[in-house]
Amino acid sequence: MSQKKILLLGSTGSIGTRTLDVVRDFSDAFCICGLSTFGRVDMLKSQIEQFRPRAISVSDVAKQKEARCLAESYDIKITFGENALSELVAICEPDIVVVATVGIAGLKPTLAAIAHGADVALANKEVLVTGGDLVMASARAKGISLRPIDSEHNAVAQCLLGQNPSKVRRIILTASGGPFRHFTQEALQKVTPEQALKHPTWRMGCKITIDSATLMNKGFEVIEGHHLFNMPLEQIDVVIHPQSIIHSFVEYVDGSLIAQLSVADMYLTIQSALMFPERRPNYLAPLEISALSALTFEKPDCERFPCLSYAYEAARAGGTAPVALNAANEVAVRRFLNNEIPFHHIPHIIRKSLDTHKNHQASSLEAIEETDRLTREDAEAL
Ligand code: NAD
Ligand code: MG
Repeated sequence: MSQKKILLLGSTGSIGTRTLDVVRDFSDAFCICGLSTFGRVDMLKSQIEQFRPRAISVSDVAKQKEARCLAESYDIKITFGENALSELVAICEPDIVVVATVGIAGLKPTLAAIAHGADVALANKEVLVTGGDLVMASARAKGISLRPIDSEHNAVAQCLLGQNPSKVRRIILTASGGPFRHFTQEALQKVTPEQALKHPTWRMGCKITIDSATLMNKGFEVIEGHHLFNMPLEQIDVVIHPQSIIHSFVEYVDGSLIAQLSVADMYLTIQSALMFPERRPNYLAPLEISALSALTFEKPDCERFPCLSYAYEAARAGGTAPVALNAANEVAVRRFLNNEIPFHHIPHIIRKSLDTHKNHQASSLEAIEETDRLTREDAEAL
């Protein structure tokens, strides 16, 4: 296998650093041509030393001076500003772009990667939530494959391999249920960001950890699966599986269920996405089936965790409704993390934003960005 050049967007995050572990371990197969961070210039420096990219990007305007000095000292190119990540795609000429940024920030560079003709390994699920139709249409037109770095969708892709997609009855996404699975409505009103950031089974960035606690993450994954696998929403179900061992199921028309199981470590998901459908041995300890005393499953409770049903609702409405869903959620999660609102106001803000949203077609980046901007303004004011 010839070495594939990887542009890694969001290299200083949870998925970003784990991606670098995979690249380091399979250096015969992959090398890094570009790296980006929002503002962690110190960490980027040590990544540059190890991986010697051709170019980097730093998004935080406050860090531009420091970042420019860094790029000069290693004699590499650097991009700044609104189109920084898209420009990085053009400079680096990658074979694969790993989109491990967070929020709608990943949408533009994903479209740029597709336009460039690179394969996209997508962790940043908000890209498909906000721009699913646009992204999938561009990928199809260019013959680009989107490789999911979300454990559930990666599992589904593995379960679909070699099967006839028209014979799928249902996709069943598993969810850990988050740290507040057993909390009452009253108890949910008092939870703190510190409690919410303690995910029971996965170590992840702050935003997705809060999204997991509200079940919005699973709602986003329903929308992500709808686009990735061209699957009607009625054929995507969610089941709570607190052990996070089964990463999802595909049910076929004859009643067969195929599942993918593994230890909960994104290393495997990232490796699978980068090599798909090839498999190679890695250092991960095998899953001890005999040590698994119980795998349990329960229905999600949309009364206590309404964000899941809001996501279905926005996805059914289509157009810019999922853009509004995402924008309101981004604002609400940030405000919760800043201790400005209580946990249960996250769904309230999203509900209000969906109620006041005027739906449009989401057929252009401009329309999506406009809805994003307007919804954020309104959600900030709530
Ligand atoms: P993180 O917060 O740990 O890392 C985000 C990375 O993106 C960092 O490098 C940060 O500097 C950069 N970044 C953040 N905002 C940016 C912006 N506005 N512009 C440019 N760069 C920006 O997040 P994470 O946990 O690694 O998650 C990344 C994405 O992958 C999210 O969309 C998340 O939902 C998804 N995902 C994560 C996991 C996981 O296990 N962490 C699993 C599945 C999916
Ligand atoms: Mg997931």
